[in-house]
Amino acid sequence: MELFAACPVCTQVCDVRTQNLGTFLSVEQRCPHCEFYRHWNSQPILGSTPAGNLHLSAAVYLSGASFVKVAWVFKAMELQLFQYNTFRRHARSFIEPAVIHQWKTLQDVMLQRLSQESKVIVGGDMRADSPGHSAKFASYTMMDLNSNTVLDIELVQGFFVPGQQSNEVGGSYHMEKEGLRRSLALLEERGINLDCIVTDRHPQIQKFLRERNITHYYDVWHMAKGISKKMDKISKEKECQKLQKWMRSNYNHIYWTAATSSTGPERVAKWTSILNHKQDVHTQDDPLYPKCLHEVHQTRDKNKWLRAGTPAFYKLEKLLTNKRTLKDVAKLSPHHQTSSVEAFHSVILRFAPKNVVFPFIGMLCRLYLAAMYYNVNADRPQAKTREGVPLYKVYFPKAIKGQCRAKPHKTEPTFRYVADMMDLIFAKVFVDPTPYKNAMLAIPVPEDLTAQYEHPDKEEVIASYVSRFNRGPV
Ligand SMILES: [Zn+2]
Ligand SMILES: [Zn+2]
Repeated sequence: MELFAACPVCTQVCDVRTQNLGTFLSVEQRCPHCEFYRHWNSQPILGSTPAGNLHLSAAVYLSGASFVKVAWVFKAMELQLFQYNTFRRHARSFIEPAVIHQWKTLQDVMLQRLSQESKVIVGGDMRADSPGHSAKFASYTMMDLNSNTVLDIELVQGFFVPGQQSNEVGGSYHMEKEGLRRSLALLEERGINLDCIVTDRHPQIQKFLRERNITHYYDVWHMAKGISKKMDKISKEKECQKLQKWMRSNYNHIYWTAATSSTGPERVAKWTSILNHKQDVHTQDDPLYPKCLHEVHQTRDKNKWLRAGTPAFYKLEKLLTNKRTLKDVAKLSPHHQTSSVEAFHSVILRFAPKNVVFPFIGMLCRLYLAAMYYNVNADRPQAKTREGVPLYKVYFPKAIKGQCRAKPHKTEPTFRYVADMMDLIFAKVFVDPTPYKNAMLAIPVPEDLTAQYEHPDKEEVIASYVSRFNRGPV
């Protein structure tokens, strides 16, 4: 404000008036002595919208940040900011239409490219919202496993209370099936030749894909996680502690079986060989896998071998060779795993935290943003020091308790998609929002679940609250 205090012509004290609108500040300076006048704006104005306000809303939204938290930061710094309603208006009018347009454009290019390929391998999985709210979303993600990119996201709204009906589709398995159905319909419509699909093992999904004659493999990560969890539980039972020593090798064996086999029987042969191996027996009758491939070596820990007839061995045998497990092992995915789908799900958490309730379009846009972020960042190279030494970081996998592992430390993520979308918002959507808004309005939005309940009179609710606390000592 010091700059406006004195007249630049006659150096006398000026009249200064300010006006602000969110982050925008305008200053009028008038000299009462020499009639000097100037009007200064802290940021350009587009129509009646200060560009910086829209820019900030877009930056917050596109980077997956929370407006509420940004508002806290501004307050702590005593910076001027616009209201939440303004943020929502920016989102609804310009940002969300731009996100939807951008995703559809990128998706078109991906599907066009894939329709030229002969054997497309996809992986699908559902992500459910956390329980506790009445309106629930489940998103179904379809990935191209060859390129590790998100191809499609279907957002399904429904209940997660078992046995209860949702307004859009039924319970969670129905929601998963519905997401898968919509996604497959899109791929088919765009002329994509599926070689196979990798998913988890839900019986309803198995049935659905069998009926459509689609080759179906089971995701190794889900299977390894499930088996490890059960094995960990058994190892806590009486006389079964020894199984703890086998947690890690059992986990690895599942991956190895899946990666090195080409037929169902071969998978089963390799899978069951681990029961002999754990008894220090490294040959078996099965011609598909007659002996262990590892070198004969003396183990330091002779105590680890299991003995037939012990509770530990009996329970492990039951877990690893029951009918359902063997049936699933035969269909373990040979080429790819949906671990990439899981990695994508963790990206979604950054854009749509589970403790925030978003409206349908808001949720959809955040999923699209997560997909755009994932698709440009998934295959980042490993970071190196200035001397060229590759960097690693250690982590503790949930599936194998107490284990510490290393993985490559990747280079910094890119936010290229944000810059592209910023250009789209300012150069196109803001200039003529109608076609973009119409495209967004064409998306079918399921009726809000909460709208189905009758809302009691607010006065009544307050009265009952007051009376509950005025009951006096009991
Ligand atoms: Zn003057
Ligand atoms: Zn062996």
